[in-house]
Amino acid sequence: MRSIVLDTETDFPGWRRAARALALEGVAPEDALWSVSEPTDLFAAPTPDASPPAGTFSVPRALVDLAETAIQARDAERFALLYRLVWRAHHGEKHLLEDAADPQVQRVQRLAQAVRRDTHKMRAFVRFREVRDTGGLGPSPAPVDDATDDGAHDTDARTPAAGPARPGLHEAPGHTPRAAPVADPAGADLLASIAARPAGELSPARYVAWFEPDHFIVEANAPFFVRRFATMQWSILTPDRCAHWDGEALTFTPGADRSQLPDDDALAEYWRAYFSSIFNPARLKIGAMTSEMPRKYWKNLPEAAAIPGLIRDAQSRTDQMVERPTISPPKERKMPKVPATAPADALPATAAHLSGDLVALATEAAACRRCPLWEPATQTVFGEGPADARLMFVGEQPGDQEDLAGRPFIGPAGQLFDRALVEAGIDRATVYVTNSVKHFKFEPRGRRRIHVKPGATEINACNVWLQAERAAIKPALTVALGATAARAVLGRTVTIGRERSRPIALDGNAQAFVTVHPSYLLRLPDEDAKAREYAAFVEDLRHAASLLA
Ligand code: SF4
Repeated sequence: MRSIVLDTETDFPGWRRAARALALEGVAPEDALWSVSEPTDLFAAPTPDASPPAGTFSVPRALVDLAETAIQARDAERFALLYRLVWRAHHGEKHLLEDAADPQVQRVQRLAQAVRRDTHKMRAFVRFREVRDTGGLGPSPAPVDDATDDGAHDTDARTPAAGPARPGLHEAPGHTPRAAPVADPAGADLLASIAARPAGELSPARYVAWFEPDHFIVEANAPFFVRRFATMQWSILTPDRCAHWDGEALTFTPGADRSQLPDDDALAEYWRAYFSSIFNPARLKIGAMTSEMPRKYWKNLPEAAAIPGLIRDAQSRTDQMVERPTISPPKERKMPKVPATAPADALPATAAHLSGDLVALATEAAACRRCPLWEPATQTVFGEGPADARLMFVGEQPGDQEDLAGRPFIGPAGQLFDRALVEAGIDRATVYVTNSVKHFKFEPRGRRRIHVKPGATEINACNVWLQAERAAIKPALTVALGATAARAVLGRTVTIGRERSRPIALDGNAQAFVTVHPSYLLRLPDEDAKAREYAAFVEDLRHAASLLA
């Protein structure tokens, strides 16, 4: 029997080294005992540290990648299970991952999927709290786990990123004590100023977040938060492992206790306001909402406090939307960039609103790099709606709010669109809505992100996704909202005034229909023109719906 003791729960290099050595030595999976820190069998022979035996060892790259993800799963048998796959691949089963019915492959795939889902939740639901630093950017305090430091963790000689969240935690000798967290009524401004800060200029404040992942995902995810919040000094505390960023170095310490978080949340009010602003009562689906934002995360989400009230008031707000006699478009809000993100390799936010092939498409699109728009944007915003929708609406691109929430048509134009749908007698739950371009194109201007029209190259690059959506749904009618959408749907430059409000034949008995984009209505400066154009827009929607009758 061979005992392998890994350094940490996510010691992938150690596992990989040991798996290679064991396979070359001919140690069968049933003769290997895997553990973390402490050997499970005191009488088992330890794995020698000597160089691995000579020989040829090669396993498919896909298996190595899968193992790197699955090893983060909270499953005591994962090391052994992964070694079984390595053993089989080493003994000739090079294509074992292609056998979707193989029980061991299935189990590892399930573990990896659970890790990916957890990763997505962490990136979406980590909420930083400000710990105001009254002493400037002086020396950082000692690690939060100093009291339990057994020398085993990998904090280097430098101090970690964020210090104690409140008095009572440990301060480095000679360091100016930090004030208790300060409730900041202008949380949005604060976060916006962080987002607008030039690279390299650190925030004078420090930020701490508490998160309870299902799996051991902190180390693998920390670089994402470094990229995202490079100019903040932050700590993410979890029960298993804590990550700290001081603007220069990323360090890790052992797990922490939730009591180390400050009670006050300077940014809570901001999150509540933001969530309320993107909540659309006409589209309330409690099941989908709780699947996207599971209740177990609510206790750490400041915006969760707003949910019961929003649900309670949803019906009356919807009634008001329908009864509102004249158009009063919502004002463009100054929404700062906020730390809500979706990773490129995880389930997109729209997945809860999709089924069948669309989920796979949306997941694939979440990792799209076909044009440069993905980089500054928060996430891919895929379409959403039923897979058998007969009516598809195509807009231009996600806006600021859509980019942050990961869902199409939820901002001011989306809300106006919803209202027009209701007036035209179209149930939004039965239609599919998407955009020609799936990433938000913008120009930073101070604290705001200003919409920039996508160019032909981007529309063409992204057309693969729109065509894939159309191929999967096969809508009888595709309504293009605005010139960009018309170009994407029809494949040519379109003048709205010339082609508006009439059916246009597409391949396969399908039809297209062109009208204006709701954001055009919001931009009209004159109230009379707004009311007139809005009425014409509603009439177009009625006309489009009648083509399906
Ligand atoms: S805008 Fe479209 S093509 Fe460009 S990266 Fe995003 S999804 Fe891909």
